[in-house]
Amino acid sequence: MDDADTLIDAPDQPERPSLVRPSMFAAGWWIAVAGGLTLVGYAVVRTIPDLSAAEPAFWVIAGLLLLFEFSPVIIGSGYDSQGVATSDAFVLATLYLYGPWTAIALISCATLLSEILKRKPLWKIPYNIGQFALSVGAAALIMELWQGSRGEPIPTLADPLTGLQPIDLTWIVAGWLAFFLVNNTLFSMMANPGRTFADDFFDDFGYYFFTTTAVLAVSPVVVFVSAEPAFLPLLLLPLYAVRKTASISREKEHQALHDSLTGLPNRKMILTELAARLDEARRREVNIAFCLLDLDRFKEVNDTLGHQVGDRLLAVVAQRIQGALRPNDMVARLGGDEYAILLDPVRNADAAVEVAHRVRQALTRPFHVEGMLFELEASIGVAVSPEHGEDVDPIVRRADVAMYLAKEERTGVEVYVADRDRNSASRLALLGGLRTALENGELQVHYQPKVSLSSGAVVGVEALVRWHHPQRGLVMPDEFIPMAEHSGLMAPLTEHVIDESLAQVAKWKMAGLEVPVAVNVSMRDLHGRDLVAVVASALERHDLPASMLVLELTERVLTRDSGEVNATLNSLRHLGVAASLDDFGTGYSSMVLLKKLPIAEIKIDRSFVSRLTADPGDVTIVASIVDLAHGLGMTAVAEGVESEEVWDLLQGLGCDAVQGWYVSRPLDSENATAWLLRHPSQQRALRVLRGGGEGVGGRA
Ligand code: C2E
Ligand code: MG
Ligand code: MG
Repeated sequence: MDDADTLIDAPDQPERPSLVRPSMFAAGWWIAVAGGLTLVGYAVVRTIPDLSAAEPAFWVIAGLLLLFEFSPVIIGSGYDSQGVATSDAFVLATLYLYGPWTAIALISCATLLSEILKRKPLWKIPYNIGQFALSVGAAALIMELWQGSRGEPIPTLADPLTGLQPIDLTWIVAGWLAFFLVNNTLFSMMANPGRTFADDFFDDFGYYFFTTTAVLAVSPVVVFVSAEPAFLPLLLLPLYAVRKTASISREKEHQALHDSLTGLPNRKMILTELAARLDEARRREVNIAFCLLDLDRFKEVNDTLGHQVGDRLLAVVAQRIQGALRPNDMVARLGGDEYAILLDPVRNADAAVEVAHRVRQALTRPFHVEGMLFELEASIGVAVSPEHGEDVDPIVRRADVAMYLAKEERTGVEVYVADRDRNSASRLALLGGLRTALENGELQVHYQPKVSLSSGAVVGVEALVRWHHPQRGLVMPDEFIPMAEHSGLMAPLTEHVIDESLAQVAKWKMAGLEVPVAVNVSMRDLHGRDLVAVVASALERHDLPASMLVLELTERVLTRDSGEVNATLNSLRHLGVAASLDDFGTGYSSMVLLKKLPIAEIKIDRSFVSRLTADPGDVTIVASIVDLAHGLGMTAVAEGVESEEVWDLLQGLGCDAVQGWYVSRPLDSENATAWLLRHPSQQRALRVLRGGGEGVGGRA
């Protein structure tokens, strides 16, 4: 490991001495500089007079040393890494051949030259020279002690020692160890902010130990070759082999930790890094932020323009994200159109949000890819440690929760807030209960009638699920449906509601009531083909025609063109089950999809309907939706009709049917049956409904 480059070059790091083990840092620097440079000074003075007497072999070795000093080192692992210099082999060979002073003088000159040429910061050059001098000095000390104790001569430039004996292997290997340990110790004293000495000392210890000793092990070959330059290839081969092996293993490691498409770190790497940095952050008592980023409409690009364009776009996105960050921050691609960003350190959550907005901004600039212009949007969720957790799991989960919130609310960036977390403790308890609720029959379906505006006839009922919680009492679907959607419970829940509703419809049929039921299904249900099978088998089980079932989908279906959803809807249509588009007007529908998908009915969201009498703007909106529905051959249904005034207005606008408290609140099966039986026959319905007060107003 040769110098402290990477860690000191990294910009935007906090002021080193103030934050980071200042005493250790200062001690490392002074030991290297004062101690090392004293050695260097003495070495230079000792060596220069002998230079004229040096044999040609010395100059060859010096030349090679310089050459290898300039060629890149074997890069270490980790996100920012140091490396092992191949020139070390020549330094030690010089030590064996010409003694410690020559070795120290030579490596100091080489380091000085290469660091000046590489434009290293001035304060670092004496440190690096000193670090080397002391490492070589340690190896030299071992050699001197050994040779001194055996009364053998110590080599000098004028009197090289080339006759190495097998017994010399003992001090040679001991010298390598000394070299490695001193070098690693000095390196670790100066290392990364917030890390302890031990962190840096033992980080990748095995890798550096073996690579360094492998390089040093070439030094006896240098000694051998110096006697006979014709054997030079013998020397280059092992050096090349060491470098090649190390670089292949590095490449493999790189591949395992990077995404091949964008070259960014992958999920595994950023999670490992997150774990390490969370540890550091705890010690340093600083904040770090983890952000998850998901592109909003990337799938459209992929589906319509193909994967190649999609891949190019993902690579450009990666560059844009990186460009918006500081070099010390880390960005990874997690797969698909998901990226993760690690901000370390970050002042507070607000600062993290600011960065997230900057990243988002960078992505809103149009992309030029393959001659086409794209606009992308991203949703980013931010979690900050320690505020939102101190371990990888909670931090990642919470960034994910925030990201979904940003997506759902279309706000772009959200920070984790426990209250809005569907996974917070109380919600998790509720979710756990939902599982058993399904098994224990705590879920009950209520029915709300839908009547024709022109005839007053009942055209169907909507099934609305309720949860009779043993402790909490009645829990409304708005509270547990979104939770179920994010767990594996949506499918069994939908299946339960379909089954129970169709059982009820079959009972009504036996009693002479022909009432189709509309069941709400979530986006989750439409992905995958299970729903079709569930519907088909439920219809068969209850011996009902498909026309007795309608499925209500949220408008979110129309924001994405998904092959899977299309296929499900088409299969359902084949079965004869109609689809109704719920809460229309609140989402972002694609008119193209509205036309393309097999949808029979549009339900106008109650937010427009309830304001009809107050806001002329809403009259225009509802009128347009009614026209749109009719134009596309669909029926228009208004939800949330609470008064006679609204009923009249809707009738004037040509709306087909209504649902709402004015007609009836959702009722349990018993009350719904009674209501239906009491409800006037289809022909007389309107008159009686509006005149006699029967069925009017809340009955739930
Ligand atoms: P939705 O499908 O839009 O259902 C209509 C909601 O409006 C129901 O709320 C209903 O009680 C309420 N509502 C009906 N008439 C009026 C009115 O005149 N005024 C007002 N202010 N509200 C009225 P609920 O039952 O709380 O259901 C809420 C949502 O939960 C439903 O909205 C639906 O999206 C979802 N949901 C309910 N049951 C299920 C289910 O079995 N599966 C799925 N996936 N979602 C369900
Ligand atoms: Mg509905
Ligand atoms: Mg609705």
